[in-house]
Amino acid sequence: MPGGKIEASLWLFFAEKQKILFGKKVMASTWVLLHNIPPSGKVFVLDDQSIWTDPMVEFGVAGSILEPLRAEFTVFVQEDGVLIRGAVTGKAFVPCTRCAEESVVVVDQQVETYEPFPTDDTDDALEVDGELLREAPTGQGVEMNLAALAWEEFLLALPMKPLCDPACNGLCPQCGANRNLASCSCGDDAGDPRMAPLRGLKVGR
Ligand SMILES: [Zn+2]
Ligand SMILES: [Zn+2]
Repeated sequence: MPGGKIEASLWLFFAEKQKILFGKKVMASTWVLLHNIPPSGKVFVLDDQSIWTDPMVEFGVAGSILEPLRAEFTVFVQEDGVLIRGAVTGKAFVPCTRCAEESVVVVDQQVETYEPFPTDDTDDALEVDGELLREAPTGQGVEMNLAALAWEEFLLALPMKPLCDPACNGLCPQCGANRNLASCSCGDDAGDPRMAPLRGLKVGR
């Protein structure tokens, strides 16, 4: 364990844990003031599952958590920005793109990212990610939303086309049967458009 490790109960003392209301939706955020972080960096552990489950609902990301997700970030404050190293780990279910059954994603997302501080220069201001960095409302300098970073990195860990199995046979385009579980009698002509009018008809005597 790194020397600057802080237990969850303690970092809540340093981090401002908020629930921001967007209409009826509640989104977790964890804004951390950067000015009191020592040059050697500071470790933050985030394991409140609402960091991931709330935006899944808000942004309509199909999926669920199989083994608790956990983010561990070491935050280094530099002259004109902040460097974050760490990882987001855990296990999640997402729907298979072929059969829609649950597909297991082992999340092991290594993080190394640099966010420049906002400046008075408007050109630079456009480069600042407002979800991640802002001027603290208390006027104590810049603060960072580690929960938003944990969510963004989780999204990056999800495969573009998740599969329950690389050999998934998918659904029959005709009857919708899951071809991993049972074969159907739709036959090989199913893809021939000339046969379309005959589909669904029972063959007579
Ligand atoms: Zn599948
Ligand atoms: Zn079929």
